[in-house]
Amino acid sequence: MISFFKRDTTPIIRERAAHCISRANIDPDALKVLYRLTNTGHIAFLVGGSVRDLLLGRQPKDFDVGTDARPNDIRRLFRNCFLIGRRFRLAHIVFGRKIIETSTFRKQPEATESENGLYQAEDNTFGTPEEDAKRRDFTVNGLFYDIKTFSVIDYVGGLKDLEKKVLSSIGDPNIRFREDPVRMMRAVKFTARLGFTMDRACRKAILKHHADILNASAPRVCEEVFRLFTYNSSCAAFKLLWELEMMKDLLPDVSAYIDATGAEKSPLWKYLTALDTDRESIELTNGVRIACLFYPLFLERLHKEEALFPKGRVNKQHIARLVLHQTALHLHIPKTTFFTAVALMDVQRRFSESPAKGRGHRFLFHPAFPEALAFQRILLAAEGGDATVIDEWQTLYRREVLEKAAAMPREAGLSDEETSEPRDAEEEAPRPRRRRRRRPQRHEAPEQYDQTGKDERPAITVTEVPPESRSADGGN
Ligand code: ATP
Ligand code: MG
Repeated sequence: MISFFKRDTTPIIRERAAHCISRANIDPDALKVLYRLTNTGHIAFLVGGSVRDLLLGRQPKDFDVGTDARPNDIRRLFRNCFLIGRRFRLAHIVFGRKIIETSTFRKQPEATESENGLYQAEDNTFGTPEEDAKRRDFTVNGLFYDIKTFSVIDYVGGLKDLEKKVLSSIGDPNIRFREDPVRMMRAVKFTARLGFTMDRACRKAILKHHADILNASAPRVCEEVFRLFTYNSSCAAFKLLWELEMMKDLLPDVSAYIDATGAEKSPLWKYLTALDTDRESIELTNGVRIACLFYPLFLERLHKEEALFPKGRVNKQHIARLVLHQTALHLHIPKTTFFTAVALMDVQRRFSESPAKGRGHRFLFHPAFPEALAFQRILLAAEGGDATVIDEWQTLYRREVLEKAAAMPREAGLSDEETSEPRDAEEEAPRPRRRRRRRPQRHEAPEQYDQTGKDERPAITVTEVPPESRSADGGN
């Protein structure tokens, strides 16, 4: 058994006057949960990322609560509570579209050395607040805010690290990263997002164990890759991923491209910087983000093809698929994201002419137009050039689509609520007759790959997909 935590640490308590967390900055529904738990005799703390972000003066993404109440006690206290999870039961307390995740304090499960590395036992043992702080990943994520005393409680040295802007692991990173290799990606994400420095122990541990990330579950890894793009810090995050050699495991083609094109000076960084500084960066879809990451690789391959066949017409979407295919397969990138990225790489020609010439206006009403516009704007910011034409498209889109759509319910004299269809509308409306699908005859070509993914909007253009790309949806 591997155990590296000292028991019974005296916590550092920072009283109300000595920190900046105010109840005014805490979500009112999270406060309701905290108060109801404490009023019924339980301990209830704000935990994890919300305490970290509040102390840094940032807006937390979500507010999580830790308590000594057991899951069934929590359910009895809140009618709007759902227990989820098999390994460890968490309570989701639902307020409209918001969820306050409330979990009983638990301890770090024991890890045992096995042939394939560290094996972590079932994660289901309740614990004390101290044990709960120590099971967490990084010191800055292990802080508690006590609603009863308004103080911050620190069992893990998180306050000191927050002040020094350092990311350090709780416990030996060589063990913690082997227990759960996704923590290495989280280390990169938080360091980049918060503008921190990663401490030497974490850096060394990642350089040593980075290949373990290949043992983690693909959907979790894919999710973390997408998170590296968030908070306008994708350039810093992917640079760190590359420096710490984890990019070789996760995105081998991108890593090889960076090495071959000047490392720190690779053109790839300017595309990510443009993505981070785009005015709509926070709202961009994963399709746009993946397209930005792979665009320089696509360009390189396109130029090679054009040199090989100077007189032929190069199929850009085919090249984009070739560039993305392996990564999509290996990371289980969802089909919609894959096809959006592929289509975006071929969209430049649509913005080559001013809309004043009157061509291509139908594209304005395509559901993917905003993504295409955003991608084009980012390419322009990265590569430099005249923004007149793209600005004209932007203005036309605002005038013809956004403003008209906003005016529509008002013109009809209906409120927003009235315009949404009643629940039973479907029953009253005549149902369109369903056409029976004809079975393909044996001599026919196999059915085309569904370009858009189930229930998704159409991709920008429809072209044939070669058989090697068909598995790129990864079964999602
Ligand atoms: P974000 O703002 O991205 O939500 P966060 O710190 O809240 O950041 P979450 O992924 O929401 O991150 O996780 C909530 C908390 O749970 C973390 O702050 C951390 O304390 C703990 N945690 C999450 N994942 C792990 C992990 N793999 N190992 C240990 N602790 C974890
Ligand atoms: Mg969170």
